[in-house]
Amino acid sequence: MISPEQLKAAPKVLLHDHLDGGLRPETVLELAGEIGHPLPRASAPELGAWFVESADSGSLERYLETFEHTVAVMQTAEAIKRVASECVQDLAADGVVYAEVRYAPEQHLTRGLTLEQVVDAVREGFEHGMAVAERPIVARQLLTAMRHKARSMEIAELAVAYRDAGVVGFDIAGAEAGYPPTRHLDAFEYLQRENAHFTIHAGEAFGLPSIWQAIQWCGADRLGHGVRIIDDIETDGDKAELGRLAAYVRDRRIPLEMCPSSNLQTGAAASIAEHPIGLLAKLRFRVTVNTDNRLMSGTSMSRELTLLAEAFDYGLEDFRWFAINAMKSAFIPFDERLAIINNVIKPWYAEADLSH
Ligand SMILES: [Zn+2]
Repeated sequence: MISPEQLKAAPKVLLHDHLDGGLRPETVLELAGEIGHPLPRASAPELGAWFVESADSGSLERYLETFEHTVAVMQTAEAIKRVASECVQDLAADGVVYAEVRYAPEQHLTRGLTLEQVVDAVREGFEHGMAVAERPIVARQLLTAMRHKARSMEIAELAVAYRDAGVVGFDIAGAEAGYPPTRHLDAFEYLQRENAHFTIHAGEAFGLPSIWQAIQWCGADRLGHGVRIIDDIETDGDKAELGRLAAYVRDRRIPLEMCPSSNLQTGAAASIAEHPIGLLAKLRFRVTVNTDNRLMSGTSMSRELTLLAEAFDYGLEDFRWFAINAMKSAFIPFDERLAIINNVIKPWYAEADLSH
């Protein structure tokens, strides 16, 4: 068994984390106080619990309300910088050594910021966070477009414009049903022509067609969640038979950005023990472990790994595999990925193994 201290110290890699889903409750309170934004609870512990309960409630309305509050307090450059810096500091304190954090710039314009000012504020916040964090961390941005809106092309262009200024990729998020990824095909084709990277939220609530479109029509580098790929796998005792799509995803080593706790809240999995990650990891898909929304799920990378360790008896060797899988799947250049794997991840695990 791994101790909580050891788990926290282990170098972890995070590819799927939403900036507006990871605020500290006390920061939400303070920022809301500054602008007179009403909140459902008045103390940080109560507010933190309210976020988790609302996300747990099974009601989409209550779940979406949680983001109304976090997005409402992130409408000035100062507020965004603070949230971005604290995000990086919190991840570093939890032992995350590399993180790609995403958000939708179009959701931060209600008080007059331009899309560019939003991206600049996040960049400054990340740089500040990396400079003051208690442990070394590299943090990069992914720009998200909302799938029910019509700004994906503009956001894709923004991601390309900022590719040398801390933005490493693009994503689409929001309700999957009724908004297939092919709706944004022009944006994905543009990114491919620009040799840019992108991931797509697909196969969380919605099934195989969404995953198939994301990969075979849109050309996604990675899948956000992708848990429904399990629908293309038949198991009989210890034997597993992969359908053509599942086989393609595994053969091509397409990374799955899995977020166990978040999936329980949205009903994509009934329990951690029943989460498809267990089978997918056993079948050696390119599985990565992620937090999604730390505030709404009351979670962290350490906590996600702890839950998986309890459910599947995972140990250091598995955590090392997850970290290396994620680092291999990152959107930063190959040599930079390799440097983190060889200089940070592997040496730590080699030493941890020896001290066992
Ligand atoms: Zn997500």
